[in-house]
Amino acid sequence: MNLDWGYFFSLFSMASFWRASITVVEISTLSWGIGLVLGFCVACAKMSTSRWLSLPAAVYIWFFRSVPLLVVLVFVYNLPQLFPSTSAFLGVPFISGLLSLVVTEAAYMAEIHRGGLLSVAKGQREAGHALNIGFLGIQRLIVIPQAFRISLPSLINEYITVIKLSSLVSVISLPELLLTGQRLYTQNFLVLETLLAVAVYYVLIVTVFSSILQWVEKRLDVSSRKPTTLSDGECEEVRKAALPMPLKQNQRSAGAPPALSLKSLRKAYGNHVVLKDVDLNINIGDVVSVIGPSGSGKTTLIRTINRLETLDAGEVILFGEDFLKGGQSPARKTLKSGMLRIGMVFQSFNLFPHMTALDNIMMAPRYHGKAPDQTTNKAQALYLLDRVGLLAHANKYPHQLSGGQQQRVAIARALALSPDIILFDEPTSALDPEMVNEVLKVIQDLAKEGMTLVIVTHEMEFALSVSDRVVMMEHGIIQVNAAPSDIVDETHKTPEMVRMREFMGRQA
Ligand code: ADP
Repeated sequence: MNLDWGYFFSLFSMASFWRASITVVEISTLSWGIGLVLGFCVACAKMSTSRWLSLPAAVYIWFFRSVPLLVVLVFVYNLPQLFPSTSAFLGVPFISGLLSLVVTEAAYMAEIHRGGLLSVAKGQREAGHALNIGFLGIQRLIVIPQAFRISLPSLINEYITVIKLSSLVSVISLPELLLTGQRLYTQNFLVLETLLAVAVYYVLIVTVFSSILQWVEKRLDVSSRKPTTLSDGECEEVRKAALPMPLKQNQRSAGAPPALSLKSLRKAYGNHVVLKDVDLNINIGDVVSVIGPSGSGKTTLIRTINRLETLDAGEVILFGEDFLKGGQSPARKTLKSGMLRIGMVFQSFNLFPHMTALDNIMMAPRYHGKAPDQTTNKAQALYLLDRVGLLAHANKYPHQLSGGQQQRVAIARALALSPDIILFDEPTSALDPEMVNEVLKVIQDLAKEGMTLVIVTHEMEFALSVSDRVVMMEHGIIQVNAAPSDIVDETHKTPEMVRMREFMGRQA
């Protein structure tokens, strides 16, 4: 038997097939788009801490992933038998088909979105929190763009699946490609030629639309962007437009309250008490280094100061005003104004990978409306980048920068909100030795200019050279709080001082 090629080719000039192709594209695109949004809501509900949201979302996903689409289609199309008032719209095959595809696809897409959301590192949310960006802001600006980028290949794959699944809608008499073909071959019995043409139409649609989506995916992929370093001449030009942003210097004056006063801070993880009634005063303009063995509670201490960890008991007083109290939620206004006064730099930088160095710095001031306009915001961000020696790298993405450069951008990002105090959580621990000094130099410059700094560090010599006080923690308590001059003075022979010198690798 030979195929009738003349008939086969004639099917590509048949208006009913092109109309059917448009129907396929319409129903697939709409159900993919609506399913994408609905699936995202279902994923958020499933990840919610509220059982009232997570349980129904889990049941929804389980149910619609278990029931075959064909069953859903026939059921939805026949619902008007139960609810006659729905016949006006469910009686329309396109609408019943769309509804069935949407509810089924949303269940699959919810799991794709959930995978994307889970893969965004915790440090990203923490960096948003440290910049005092609200929950929704963190989702919108930080989490969703990254999660969407991760989910996109699977979502594109789902679009192709939807295009193919749309052929099932033929069972409820929607004249899509398969039904159009079936109607033809039941009259002329040229089954193979007709189905071959139907297959070609599908391949055409899938090829065109998956190419478009892959192009979008590529555009969103910052990892494939070419790094651009500004030349010296370009830097000079940009420098002219940069707007100086002096550091906030709170005057040390007699009788002024400390910048930070920690009173009886207590924190436990389960039955492991990590902070045992820690008291510490940090004066305005002071640089305090916190040292101590691993697991002694140093990181926990500074994370409680900006609420990355909640306090069980105790108080944090900021410039003489109540800020945090153990076991109590602070008033929104107090929290917001307090958080804006405290910047934080993390061990693992936590730069936002989908933004350039410049955008990383501009984001928080833009969110908080700190600069009068975007031109000023950009000019100030450029100034800060220049300050940390990275003006030439303004347009690079974090993955295009070395660890030391990333950390310097992270410092500039913290400075962009003009904080009064900056907390550093082991800022050089994740760096190769040759990059440590470039970061320490930036911190040293901030110290010289009178910023209040709290630095958790393992760089002992740096701590001695830059600090007004060095605090040693062990077993959740402050063992020693001393000036560097007293630490190096070997005539001080208290057991704590001897232990501290030993820990610092100095002669006891
Ligand atoms: P350091 O910074 O001095 O190395 P940390 O403050 O990071 O110490 O940790 C102090 C102790 O608290 C460690 O024993 C650590 O295992 C524990 N810890 C820290 N974070 C958590 C957490 N999220 N859950 C449970 N235990 C934690």
